Amino acid sequence: MTDTATRLASIRESIASAARLARREPNEVTLVAVTKTRSSQEIEALLAAGQRHFGENRVQEVEAKWPSLRARYPDVQLHCIGRLQSNKADAAVALFDVIHSLDRPTLLDALVTASAKAGRVPQVYVQVNIGEEEQKGGVALADLPAFLDQVRASPLPLAGLMAMPPIGVEPSSYFALLAKLARRHDVIGLSMGMSGDFRAAVMLGATVVRIGSAFFENPAAT
Ligand SMILES: *Cc1c(COP(=O)(O)O)cnc(C)c1O
Repeated sequence: MTDTATRLASIRESIASAARLARREPNEVTLVAVTKTRSSQEIEALLAAGQRHFGENRVQEVEAKWPSLRARYPDVQLHCIGRLQSNKADAAVALFDVIHSLDRPTLLDALVTASAKAGRVPQVYVQVNIGEEEQKGGVALADLPAFLDQVRASPLPLAGLMAMPPIGVEPSSYFALLAKLARRHDVIGLSMGMSGDFRAAVMLGATVVRIGSAFFENPAAT
């Protein structure tokens, strides 16, 4: 196996063992490989190893890296995991299959307009500002119910909730809170868990984990 294939297999095995501990099926969890700032060659190695879901956070970077890769791997699914400006909605709808960072009515409107124009409808996750941090994206907890109603009344399919816990704090209580919000609002998908905390996220119900550095960085250094 190549180095990349070995890492992919070991991350998949960690996800599967966390799922089994929680009496979940490993195939309930989608692994998104986060390739922001990574080269086409690094992405190519993951594609060759069988990975198909990828996360990126910059429209321009996706426009530069992905058209030629997509042409050769048409079954790739691209996930937008970064803050999205409303004026990039047309490009985002053209490039991404799934958007994890929907967090405000103006962006919802822009995406609805863009998808009607393009005849292409991305799935959306509503990003929740789970730690109520001023500098972070995500809808405020108090605004979540009304915003979910708005998304449900739109043509965009609501896939779930997404969150990033505050840095430097034990993340499990935030994952549990996001799972509770999803149950309360009858939302199925939970996009939570990154390189440092995806096992806990899977045990607490993540259906999508977004993993970057664990693919690319020396484990001894992280
Ligand atoms: C960069 C990023 C990730 C991946 O983080 P790692 O710690 O490198 O696994 C996941 N989600 C979002 C929103 C990110 O920006």
